[in-house]
Amino acid sequence: MSNASQRPLCCLICRKEIHTGDSYLRCSVVACNSGREKLVFCSERCFDRHRATARHRKAAPVACVAGETAA
Ligand SMILES: [Zn+2]
Ligand SMILES: [Zn+2]
Repeated sequence: MSNASQRPLCCLICRKEIHTGDSYLRCSVVACNSGREKLVFCSERCFDRHRATARHRKAAPVACVAGETAA
C-alpha cells in the first residue's frame, strides 16, 4: 500500500518540485483538480499567474502540505 514511487509534484508555473512535507497551493476551482495532472503552485505568486491565465473569477489558493492528503 505504499506510494513510494510517486513522482514529486511540480509547480505548474515555474516547475519547482514540491516534495513530501512541503507546503504548496492548489486552485479552488473544481475543474483544476479533476484532471489527471493536478495543478499545484509553489507560491501565491505562481498561483496569481495561473489565475490570470485561466481567467478564474472566483479562484482562491488552497493551502496544502504535500503527501498529507490523498486526492
Ligand atoms: Zn512556482
Ligand atoms: Zn485554476
